[in-house]
Amino acid sequence: MHILTFCAQCLTEYGVPNMTCFEAKILPDDGACKITCDKGHSTVIIVQDEKFEILAGMAARDIAEDSYRSSVLNFTASLERLYEFFIRLIFRAKKLDDLKVDRLWRQIRKQSERQFGAFMTLYLTETGEPYVPLPDSQTALRNRVAHDGLICSRSEALEYGQAVWDCAWQIIKVVRADKYAEAARSMMHERLEVRLRHARQDGLRHGTTSVYHPFHYELMARDPSLENFVRQLIDRPSDQEIAAMFK
Ligand SMILES: [Zn+2]
Repeated sequence: MHILTFCAQCLTEYGVPNMTCFEAKILPDDGACKITCDKGHSTVIIVQDEKFEILAGMAARDIAEDSYRSSVLNFTASLERLYEFFIRLIFRAKKLDDLKVDRLWRQIRKQSERQFGAFMTLYLTETGEPYVPLPDSQTALRNRVAHDGLICSRSEALEYGQAVWDCAWQIIKVVRADKYAEAARSMMHERLEVRLRHARQDGLRHGTTSVYHPFHYELMARDPSLENFVRQLIDRPSDQEIAAMFK
């Protein structure tokens, strides 16, 4: 996935973006891209989004770009990271000690079934309703893609992505409730500080950006169709195309 980068110092000094260094860079795992403009300024651009949001954005773009296997794998990773986000958010809202939460997470982080068990239990405790997981047919498709090397079709990838969307919506409706807003803000602040760590150490300016992904609360509430989201992605210019307009 690419993100659009810009020079934060030029923007501050001249009040307008320096279009000559407007560039689409590949987003690294740490969510921070370092760039140097033609005037020699260095800036770190960080994405604000949660990992599950970035992965969902990648998965949707995979379908738009006909990479269907990759979409299934990215949607799977997105849902697993959303489970983790839910668990950590609830614990943060309950003001549990981070060190104790990390100690628990170390016990389950390498086994997705353990994480899923912890998530299911906490979801029921928190909402009073059992979580409805992926249908067996979609779990079987995921396993064939992940373990048997299945090259799935567009319709299979869309159907799988929609099933993940339906699961994610159950969770996102809960985590975006007002009673978790403070905990969500606190986690976001922490996430940005981690991504900014190197920029701060090196005394660099920074800017923030967001990826376009299908797991925004407002988008999900407005339109439950993943296919419509993918169609929008196909219709709008990619970050690379936008950057190329200014060259
Ligand atoms: Zn500059």
